[in-house]
Amino acid sequence: MMVTMDRKSTNMDLIVLGAGAGGMTAAAVAAAEGLKVLVLEKTAAVGGTTAISGGMIWAPNSHLTKAPDSLEKAKTYLDAAVPSDAGRSQRRTFLERAPEMIAYLEKNTSVKLQAVPIYPDYEVDAPGASTHGRVLEPVCFDARALGSAFRMVRPPLPEFTLFSGMMIARPDIVHFRNAFRSLPSSLRVARLMAEYIGQRLAGKHRGTTLVLGNALVARLLKSLLDRGVEIRCRCEVKNLVVSNNRVIGVRVTTEGGEQTIAARCGVVLATGGFSADIPLREAYLPPQARTLTATAGVGTGDGLRYGLSVGAQITPGPFGSAYWTPASHYRDTNDRHVVFPHTVTDRAKPGLIAVNRDGRRFTNEAVSYHQFVTAMLRENNVADAVPAHLICDKRFLWKYGLGAIRPMTLRLGRYKAAGYLKEAATLHGLADSLLIDARTFEATIDRYNGDAQVGKDTEFDRGGNVYQRFMGDAENFPNPCMAPIEAPPFYSIALYPADLGTATGLDSDDDARVLDDAGQPIAGLYACGNDMNAIMQGAYPSPGTTIGPAMTYGYLAAMHAAQTDTN
Ligand SMILES: Cc1cc2nc3c(=O)[nH]c(=O)nc-3n(C[C@H](O)[C@H](O)[C@H](O)COP(=O)(O)OP(=O)(O)OC[C@H]3O[C@@H](n4cnc5c(N)ncnc54)[C@H](O)[C@@H]3O)c2cc1C
Repeated sequence: MMVTMDRKSTNMDLIVLGAGAGGMTAAAVAAAEGLKVLVLEKTAAVGGTTAISGGMIWAPNSHLTKAPDSLEKAKTYLDAAVPSDAGRSQRRTFLERAPEMIAYLEKNTSVKLQAVPIYPDYEVDAPGASTHGRVLEPVCFDARALGSAFRMVRPPLPEFTLFSGMMIARPDIVHFRNAFRSLPSSLRVARLMAEYIGQRLAGKHRGTTLVLGNALVARLLKSLLDRGVEIRCRCEVKNLVVSNNRVIGVRVTTEGGEQTIAARCGVVLATGGFSADIPLREAYLPPQARTLTATAGVGTGDGLRYGLSVGAQITPGPFGSAYWTPASHYRDTNDRHVVFPHTVTDRAKPGLIAVNRDGRRFTNEAVSYHQFVTAMLRENNVADAVPAHLICDKRFLWKYGLGAIRPMTLRLGRYKAAGYLKEAATLHGLADSLLIDARTFEATIDRYNGDAQVGKDTEFDRGGNVYQRFMGDAENFPNPCMAPIEAPPFYSIALYPADLGTATGLDSDDDARVLDDAGQPIAGLYACGNDMNAIMQGAYPSPGTTIGPAMTYGYLAAMHAAQTDTN
């Protein structure tokens, strides 16, 4: 689909490459500042990985924050959780300007956010950490407000929708789980179902009640359309155009041949990093983590290459080049390659452990997804932890689900047939099917089960802090993250390191200006989102620490460009 308000325009103020959180924020802000903006998107849909994400935005100390917070406290936290001088200035700028970005969007666009009441920082024991309200999420959005442009929004992952297109808000998950056990939950679910059926009967291709990253993208799209921003989908840029050491536009390939489009105030690179680019994965990611990505698979490193072609630099951060999640994967009955990110659904719930090739646990399974993969990669130097195996029993699988297998799934045959789920009547049998030493494996389970009885993990302190307990099951005593694994049959699925996005990008300054090898800004060139070198330098200290900076630096790029007068 190509949406063009004015297909002939070749003179713009700002051109944005890529329509994800970073690029669409930059475009929305630039348009609100009065610039004539063109968004060029390579695929048929807007949203990129942002559209399939949780849509969480880390923005400490904003006016939406409910719990007491302060700039100083947030600085203390980041200094502890990201202990490096590299990127410190940009982290400071982010903390100082993110609240301003949030307020600006709320006032000038259709982006409406709310604080997630409780969501701990991932290094919750570090000084300055918070358990409340630093994370924002998009307010649920009614996609009917987009009219026919609703089809432009990249859909969410099927694994995170019900009935082929119904999105579920985070607080409603518990209602679906309790639908047969609690009257309020039954009523809530009945209402949501009735709404969804109504939307589909009205002819919509999927549910119109959008939440999570999809709501963020839809709200940004609405903001762009309201301001008359031109969006060209399925559009590929051949190269940047440079004159007198300044990026002054782009050259695109069109049906009628090549076309140069001028950008008076500059070009913003926001193409989403290199998750889907094999050469860049080989250059920057560890060998055992190069094959699998949990992203939308659209970040092919173009922004980085455009930048490098005009003298930009890439300096990988000290904490790695990707945001990690453990993921399981298989081919479904339609031959679709399903990659399931194990971010929050199962690892911390009571009655599950992860083991390496030796049949031993190697980490606290309830830590954040990024920390879990960091442990997998570290462990792999000692014993094979790629893949690692998640282990649970029948009770766990029924109650919490496992990876792509939802709770209360009656028919497991297709998952077993696909080789995704392994099942055995005994722990010994499960170990045999995983080619793991059965005696070591049984000893691991025995020790864990003994610890689970008293609620104290003597090996890794599972459930030992607020974040882990928050991710566990509050109704499970004495430890929300521990229950014995004892009800046969027993199950396992294999976990691999996958990325949620890439962290290594173009070196940029506090205004999102791309820097050259002398550390000087390349005039007219900005980067944001995963095209910009991560301000967290490859660390992942809190939920929302990719989209929060992506939007903040998108905002800063637009503000800087709006102040540029090249005439
Ligand atoms: C399941 C999942 C959940 C996640 N949840 C969260 C979360 O809650 N909070 C958080 O902070 N992070 C989360 N992440 C990570 C986060 O989604 C990404 O890091 C972030 O969305 C990247 O934003 P972006 O704007 O850089 O790129 P994207 O959103 O990927 O957008 C880039 C766009 O550029 C387009 N593009 C590519 N090449 C070109 C080109 N040459 N020309 C024009 N356009 C091009 C792409 O098609 C795409 O539309 C999650 C990731 C996953 C996979």
